[in-house]
Amino acid sequence: MIRRYRSFLPVSDDTPVVSLNEGGTPLIETPEIVSALGGDFQLFVKYEGLNPTASFKDRGMTLAVSKAVERGARIVVCASTGNTSASAAAYAARAGMRCLVLIPEGKIAFGKMAQALIHGALTLEVRGNFDDALEIVRELGKRDDIEVVNSINPYRIQGQKTASFEVCDSLGEAPDMHFLPVGNAGNITAYWMGYKEYRDAGNCSKLPRMMGWQAEGAAPIVRGTPIESPETVASAIRIGNPSSWEHAVNAASESSGAIDMVSDEEILDAQRMLARTAGIFVEPASAAGIAGIVKCHTGGGIPNGSTVVVTVTGHGLKDPDVAVENSRAESIIVDADMDSVLVAIGLD
Ligand SMILES: *Cc1c(COP(=O)(O)O)cnc(C)c1O
Repeated sequence: MIRRYRSFLPVSDDTPVVSLNEGGTPLIETPEIVSALGGDFQLFVKYEGLNPTASFKDRGMTLAVSKAVERGARIVVCASTGNTSASAAAYAARAGMRCLVLIPEGKIAFGKMAQALIHGALTLEVRGNFDDALEIVRELGKRDDIEVVNSINPYRIQGQKTASFEVCDSLGEAPDMHFLPVGNAGNITAYWMGYKEYRDAGNCSKLPRMMGWQAEGAAPIVRGTPIESPETVASAIRIGNPSSWEHAVNAASESSGAIDMVSDEEILDAQRMLARTAGIFVEPASAAGIAGIVKCHTGGGIPNGSTVVVTVTGHGLKDPDVAVENSRAESIIVDADMDSVLVAIGLD
């Protein structure tokens, strides 16, 4: 990814590239969803769950860790709701660096915990929430040998902006609207930066309206005030005081877009709908953008004939517990004979 877009990235020929072949994720057209909604627009899903550690965080991590190696840092540190730690752990392993992750106690999804541990990150569960963990990480970052790889690290945003380049390269133009979930607000900031840079370079001729979506129980930007104890099933956006708050507000206002919120029920409905209608399995936070499309379309907010892109940020296997529960289905145990199977499927 760094090599492909290096003229847009803060790297030199001497920067050691730490990569797992991130980026290049598919942009999948999903007319079946538009039909299900009764809409009249073109919808494309940018499936970021197909990155090496199964979320978009890898785009920023490849650059952040490459730059950390370049300046001689020895330890990679982050606070995380799960995906940043999974990505940091993998890229640190690849770079031969130590990794320390601080996560909210008992609050991260099972798959993400597995990733931090298997890649060998020293994993601390903090008795507090993400925002508390990030405070500690900011302090740790004052030490010279430590590289903080949260999105307060400017290289994270720089790397993540490549997703908007890929969208334009695939469509041959920027879309009319771009939907995505908003947690710490780094990604909406990155996409907006990327679209503007790509237009200035003559690679697209317009800019999309940026449509960011928070969860109702963790919607500080929508409510205009930090949330002390954010709560939502969408753990990746369970953030009460986003680092890139101002940038996110700018992206929405400069682009004539919006930052709005959806309920947990709408998020879970969207997760199921995307899986059953389009065959795309995402984690709950990623479904917030889909829920946003449903809500926006219902309110008449998507003009006919629009080209709409939605970023689904992380793979569904990240959070299997929520998925099994949200499937509203159960497997059936049968004896190992044809009669039992026929009875079970109602064909006896
Ligand atoms: C990190 C993350 C988000 C939120 O992105 P921000 O840049 O923090 O707004 C959304 N979904 C998933 C799956 C994530 O990992």
